[in-house]
Amino acid sequence: MFETVIGLEVHVQLNTKTKLFCSCPTSFNHKQNVNTCPTCLALPGALPVLNKEVIHKAVMLGTAVDATINQTSFFDRKSYFYPDSPSAFQITQLYTPIVEHGKLQIDLEDGVTKTIRINRAHIEADAGKNIHDGDISKVDLNRAGTPLLEIVSEPDMNSAEEAILYLKKLHSIIRYLNIGDANMQEGSFRVDVNVSIRPKGDKKLYTRVEVKNINSFKFIQKAIELEVSRQSEAWEDGIYEKEICQETRLFDQVKQETRSMRGKEEAADYRYFPEPDLLKVVVTDEILKEFSVIPELPDAKHARFIKQYKMNEYNAGVITSSIEMAHFFETMMATNGVSAKTATSLLTVELQGRLKGDANISNSPVDAQKLGFLASRIDDQTISGKAAKDVLDYLMENDIDVDLVIDTLGLKQVTDTGAIETMCDEIISANPDKVEQYQAGKDKLFGFFVGQVMKASKGSANPQAVNEVLKAKLG
Ligand code: ADP
Ligand code: MG
Ligand code: ZN
Repeated sequence: MFETVIGLEVHVQLNTKTKLFCSCPTSFNHKQNVNTCPTCLALPGALPVLNKEVIHKAVMLGTAVDATINQTSFFDRKSYFYPDSPSAFQITQLYTPIVEHGKLQIDLEDGVTKTIRINRAHIEADAGKNIHDGDISKVDLNRAGTPLLEIVSEPDMNSAEEAILYLKKLHSIIRYLNIGDANMQEGSFRVDVNVSIRPKGDKKLYTRVEVKNINSFKFIQKAIELEVSRQSEAWEDGIYEKEICQETRLFDQVKQETRSMRGKEEAADYRYFPEPDLLKVVVTDEILKEFSVIPELPDAKHARFIKQYKMNEYNAGVITSSIEMAHFFETMMATNGVSAKTATSLLTVELQGRLKGDANISNSPVDAQKLGFLASRIDDQTISGKAAKDVLDYLMENDIDVDLVIDTLGLKQVTDTGAIETMCDEIISANPDKVEQYQAGKDKLFGFFVGQVMKASKGSANPQAVNEVLKAKLG
C-alpha cells in the first residue's frame, strides 16, 4: 500500500496600496496597462524601491505561523523568458527569505492535531497576464510587479483532506490578518500542489509532480486524488520509473485529468543570482515590535468562543471559519441582553440558511446590528423563536425596523399574565371532563390544555407563561 506525500506552495497577493517596487496602484483596473510605470515595465534605467508595507505584512504572517523572521534578507533574480515579464526575470528571495521555519496546526477528523511545518515565506513580484485573443496574444501588465508572499510548506501532508485543511487554515489566517483578499477565483490565493507517493513505512521522498494554479478547494482535492491514482497505478503496473517524472502538470477540470505542461526546470535553469539593484531587506527592531502584534487568530478565537460563550465545538468552528462571521457574531453580542445561544442559532441557522446565490455574510440584507436586535427581542420574550423566523423572512426583503415588522405582522407575544389567565380560565371551564381526568392523575392531559390555550391565542401566548398559569390553576 502507498502513502501520499504532499507539499504546498501558496502565492498570496498582498493587499498593499502600491506595487512592490514602484508607486503604481495595485487596484484592479479593467483598462489594460494603465497601472504601469517605467519600473514595472522594466524600461532601461528605472530602478526598484522596496515598498515598506510589504515587509510589515510579511512580518505579520511570519508571526502568525510561529516562524523565524530574518531581520536581514535579500532579493535574488530568477531568469525566465515569458511575454508577461518585460524584464525577463523575476525578483524573488531564494537564498535568504524574510520568513523561515514556521508551522501551522490542522485539526484532523478524529480530534487529533497535526503540525505542518512551513519551510519559508518569501517576497516576490508577480508577472503580468497574457491574453489570448484568437490568433493574437496580448499582454496586460497591470499586475506586473504586484507583491506576492509565497508560502512553502514541507511535504508534511499525507492526504488530500489534510492538504485542504492546511489551505483553509492558511486562507483564514490571511483573512484574519487582513494582509490579502485571498480570493481564489481572482487569483489572489494561488496554489501549486506537489504530490508524490511512497510505499507505506518508507521514509524516503519519491519523485514529485507539481500541479499548478488550481482555483478552488474542490479542484485541488480532485487534482490530488487523480495524481495519486495515476502514480500508484503506474507503480502497480511496473512502469513508475518510466511514467512518473518531475514535471509540471495542469489540472483539466473539464476532462478531469492532469496532464503534462512542461518538464520541471532545475534551479540552475533559472540562473539565480543576487539582485544587484536592491539593498538588503532590513526588518528593524521597531518594525518587528510593531508588526509582531497581530489580531486574534482563528484557533485562539475558537477557544475563546467555547469558553466565553459556552459554545459547542461545532458552532465555534462555523462562526470562526471566517473573520466576517466572527465579527458579525460579536457585533450581535454587543446588543443589550442578547444570549449567545439565540445569536448563534439566528446567525448560523436562520440567516445563513436564507443567504442564497451571491448573497453572503458581508453583503447580507440584514446586518449584524439588526440581527442582534432581533435576537434581543427573542431573549426579552417580546416574540417567540418561531415568530422571529417570520420577522427575518420579512427583513430579508424589506429594509425596515425590527419592531415595526413585529407590530405590522402582529407577532408580539402575550406575556401579560392577566390576558393569559383569562384564556386559561376559558379553556378550563369549557372542558370540565378533561379537568376531572387530569386531576384524577392523567398527567398527559396537561399538554392538551397548553395546546388549547396556544391555539386560542393564535400562537401569540408565551408558552412558558401558559405553562406556569395552567400548573397553578389545575393544581
Ligand atoms: P520549486 O519552486 O522548484 O517547486 P520549492 O522548494 O519552492 O521548489 O517547492 C517545493 C515544494 O514541493 C515544497 O512545498 C515541498 O514541500 C514539496 N516537495 C518536495 N519534495 C516533495 C515530494 N517528494 N513529494 C511531495 N512534495 C514534495
Ligand atoms: Mg514549485
Ligand atoms: Zn509601476
